[in-house]
Amino acid sequence: MSPAGIVSASDRFGLYVHVPFCERKCAYCDFYSVEGTGLKERYLNALHIEIARGARRTAAAVAGTVYLGGGTPTMLPPADIERILADIADHFSIAADAEYTIEVNPGSASLETLRFLRGLGFNRLSIGVQSFDGAALAFLERIHTAAEARTCIESARTAGFDNLSVDLIYAIPGLSRSAWERTLQEAVNFSPEHVSAYSLIVEEQTPLHARVQAGIVTPADEEEEAAQYMMTMEFLESRGLEHYEVSNYAREGFRSRHNSSYWQHRNYLGFGPSAHSFWADGHTGEAWRWANIRQLHGYCDVLWRNGSPVAMAEELGTRELVNERIFLGLRSDGLSLPMLTNDLGYELSGEQRAYIHQILARNLAVLRAGTVTLTREGFLLCDEICAHLMVS
Ligand code: SF4
Repeated sequence: MSPAGIVSASDRFGLYVHVPFCERKCAYCDFYSVEGTGLKERYLNALHIEIARGARRTAAAVAGTVYLGGGTPTMLPPADIERILADIADHFSIAADAEYTIEVNPGSASLETLRFLRGLGFNRLSIGVQSFDGAALAFLERIHTAAEARTCIESARTAGFDNLSVDLIYAIPGLSRSAWERTLQEAVNFSPEHVSAYSLIVEEQTPLHARVQAGIVTPADEEEEAAQYMMTMEFLESRGLEHYEVSNYAREGFRSRHNSSYWQHRNYLGFGPSAHSFWADGHTGEAWRWANIRQLHGYCDVLWRNGSPVAMAEELGTRELVNERIFLGLRSDGLSLPMLTNDLGYELSGEQRAYIHQILARNLAVLRAGTVTLTREGFLLCDEICAHLMVS
């Protein structure tokens, strides 16, 4: 079967818009963004051109999710956010029950702004809380305090958002397990529908990386990181949040539909500097991944000159798609072995089957109806398990 077997013409796709502005860069962040909104008009004009062009690809497909991320989308005035949504609505078919998510950072969105966003049609809010611990927020160089994070969540509820996601970070140097547990407890006190909890990664070319290299900061060791991860899984699952992806937890019915499209190998289109896309064409049998230019100036210039903003594009063959399916499946709902065969025409090798038996025997995974799903212990070793199973 051709790679296009992974997507049927009736599948909905996701739309992502990257808004590359922040008030100030956080020490650990390697998402693409610039400080201040001096270039916002050029960005909005370039985005307008890119969105119009992207619509040509989708033919009769319907978008099931729209996601504005960044950066800090709420650095844009509400009228500009409205302009982006209008552009999307002008060029794409959007499902009537679509999930509309926007990311906000505490301190960047007033109650009035949140009400406006709710009125525009956003029905899901992803709040970059990261921690309720003042020292942790200072270490991360977030622009907000814990008090502002609390106010932001309360304002979101007042504004009418009944689908809230709270982003948190653990394994912060110097943050004890009990301090991390206090942040988890405070988060669940707000009864969020969704929690994303990420381990702090020291990314290259960040101020945090420079401090680690200079010996000023010592990252949490692997044992501490694993202990905090295990604590996170146990804590959130015991409070009714299902662990449905390596770093994501949701109440029933509140999984992120947009991010699930990444993990379930569905099509998505990303717009804006550094945005990524994946598109498998059910008719031609081709599957592509591509990524836009990261730099805002370059992105705007090239679109203004009627050029392509794509910096990297890769056609995916069966081997790449099988590897992605293994990696994405094990990180989330599990790897469906029948779907590997039915969608991609792939049969596991004897070596892969033997390894799956091993991880089942070691209680790192369970097998139900042909789907291999990692246990908590398995999630601790997720990267290692994926590397063993992927095809070289
Ligand atoms: S607010 Fe978010 S995107 Fe902006 S610098 Fe901080 S972590 Fe990065």
